[in-house]
Amino acid sequence: MEKILNYIDGELRAPATDNWLDVMEPATATAYGQLSDSGVEDLELAVAAAGAAFPAWSQTPAEERGRMLRRLAQKIEAMSEPLALAESIDTGKPIAVTRKVDIPRAARNLHFFADAASQFASESHHMEAGAINYTLRMPLGVVACISPWNLPLYLLTWKIAPALAAGNCVIAKPSEITPVTAWLFSRLCQEAGLPPGVLNIIHGKGPGIGQAIVEHPAINAISFTGGSATGASIARTAAPEFKKLSLELGGKNPSIVFADADWESMMNGVVRAGYSNQGQICLCGSRVLVEASIYEKFRDEFVARVATLKIGDPLNEETEQGAIVSLPHRDKILDCIEQARQAGGNILTGGGASKPEADRCSEGWFVEPTVIDGLAADSACNQDEIFGPVVSLIPFADEEQALAIANGTRYGLAASVWSSDVSRCHRLAEQLQAGLIWVNTWMLRDLRTPMGGLKSSGVGREGGMEAMRFFTEPRNVCIKYR
Ligand code: NAD
Repeated sequence: MEKILNYIDGELRAPATDNWLDVMEPATATAYGQLSDSGVEDLELAVAAAGAAFPAWSQTPAEERGRMLRRLAQKIEAMSEPLALAESIDTGKPIAVTRKVDIPRAARNLHFFADAASQFASESHHMEAGAINYTLRMPLGVVACISPWNLPLYLLTWKIAPALAAGNCVIAKPSEITPVTAWLFSRLCQEAGLPPGVLNIIHGKGPGIGQAIVEHPAINAISFTGGSATGASIARTAAPEFKKLSLELGGKNPSIVFADADWESMMNGVVRAGYSNQGQICLCGSRVLVEASIYEKFRDEFVARVATLKIGDPLNEETEQGAIVSLPHRDKILDCIEQARQAGGNILTGGGASKPEADRCSEGWFVEPTVIDGLAADSACNQDEIFGPVVSLIPFADEEQALAIANGTRYGLAASVWSSDVSRCHRLAEQLQAGLIWVNTWMLRDLRTPMGGLKSSGVGREGGMEAMRFFTEPRNVCIKYR
């Protein structure tokens, strides 16, 4: 069985304790690898290596840091097929998606921040009294990047690329549930000649090594993506130490459908928003708010389309719905559906575990794409993040009610509005409590724009120059010349 090692000080190393965790393939429910279950000894080595690498890396010209990131992007591109296969096995995600989305976008993150390294600039302010202020943007030192299981290589690169571009050294902790692409990436870092200690990837459990990383006094900032409860716990630990924090957390995002929307593109978009990666994307639209005048027509066609989504072996090119990432998560999703049923919800399609045709997958963790209606906007199913292939339909009478329902959760990550009334779209964009608002589209991302949520969906913004700013500290210098 393959052993997934830590990447510390440029070397691949087994954990000091020799403790290992099984890595499971969700589609077959079998273990296919063993993961380092790291401890504080491994962390100390990584922190020391990062600290030792920092002076040289932070002094390396930005163009050279950019060139290194570009080399890493090119390594990913050259290895895209094995990486896509590894990610599909690791996550249960259809290979068509890992090939077209996850792996190319991971390379794009590195290309983007390779350019950003040389474009990052600071400000200067002239004072009439005869002084100039300029702002130095200094790298923070050793920073941590903690990422979740749903887009493993994409979110790892999304965090480490701006941190490295800005001149920091990184301790990265990928999810213990889907560690394989980070492991392959650490080998690419070796091949690319990334200086030892600049990036260290430590594997293991969140409450164990993850918590130790957050507590470590030499780690100055934490960029975290994951669940809201974990984010709150990290904030409690880090706040008294005044560590810089960026928290990208959960969502319960509305797709808001008006009667005047372009029917075909709206229908395609809302289905995709609901069920991509089996609903396991933080930006998925899990509440679909539909104008009452078209409710029945929408419901019938939406249910018909969802019922024909092809569930199958993630390694089959035709598969549209793969496996759920873990057994506990599969069971959590099924529990949420059961609670919705008991609360009086109508299960319009799906509602249970599924067995795809492929023999290989007969024991795998699959859930039928599910559509529910008949639940109040404040029911648990419409309030709590399920993070699975479960969409709830809610009719609304007018724009005011749509807005009240859309904003009526503790989350504020994303929303999509489907309408051909331009003024209405702008009005809603201004009033929706969400960090990302799409109009007549979903998941279209320009990496220059800030990414992140409001309320329990997090604090801080990633993406573009926001991310570069997060990974630096501003120091103002005021020079009196008259
Ligand atoms: P999670 O919070 O369980 O774990 C995320 C990461 O944190 C993992 O690497 C885990 O090992 C680590 N971790 C867990 N406990 C920790 C602790 N006490 N200290 C330090 N690290 C710890 O999340 P998950 O289940 O892996 O991911 C799913 C969640 O992520 C969903 O809620 C989803 O909405 C969210 N998410 C948000 C975004 C976003 O950009 N807002 C993107 C993707 C996923």
